[in-house]
Amino acid sequence: MSLIRLAYASEATFDAQPVAKGVEPHVARILMTSRKNNARVGLVGGLYYGNNRFFQYLEGEEEDVHKTFDRIKRDDRHRNILTLIEEPIEARTFSDWSMKYVPLSEDVRSFLERHRLDSFHPQSFTAEQCEEMIQLIRDSNQSQKLVNYDEAEPVPTRKGPEAPSGLRYGLIAAAVCLVGALIYAGTLL
Ligand code: FAD
Repeated sequence: MSLIRLAYASEATFDAQPVAKGVEPHVARILMTSRKNNARVGLVGGLYYGNNRFFQYLEGEEEDVHKTFDRIKRDDRHRNILTLIEEPIEARTFSDWSMKYVPLSEDVRSFLERHRLDSFHPQSFTAEQCEEMIQLIRDSNQSQKLVNYDEAEPVPTRKGPEAPSGLRYGLIAAAVCLVGALIYAGTLL
């Protein structure tokens, strides 16, 4: 059992749609699948999407990280995938997150300003910028509920088949009549 961490940068192939519920809809679908799959194998990390580019960070068992990254690399929703970090680690540093999401925020804007970067272009990040970006995702307190479509969608409750309302009223009326008849019969005894 050996833990590793992996970070990569890539370029989205889709045209960004208007943000809904705090996140671009293609990215929302990616997050939903990632959270489901990563939680199952104990992968943690974060995803940043901005300027039509991705920066993703993953931590977990070496085999699980590699299997997941192989699927990610085959995904045609992005291209020009460049591995920025891949190395062993002692322990996971994103304790609770199967895939934390950070949208363009003040933190990222000030990160770009500090490094005099015109736009978000993770393919050309230095090692130091990668570490700063990972820390930024780790520290982000963006409400993850906002970007969690599965939580945002109403959850259907489990109910049995409903009787049509006419039938319901008929049954109530029959019950009232039955009770009335029993009371009347009781008075005759
Ligand atoms: P499937 O059942 O194959 O698909 C799940 C959903 O995704 C379905 O609704 C399906 O329609 C949709 N989908 C799958 N592929 C495409 C596609 N090419 N275009 C449009 N919709 C598609 N997966 C992870 O498990 N963990 C991650 O951390 C992770 N990070 C990702 C980061 C990025 C930037 C991208 C682009 C993808 C990432 N993915 C991640 C998704 C990954 O590439 C695979 O699509 C996914 O792992 C397949 O999982 P599945 O077999 O359970 O899902």
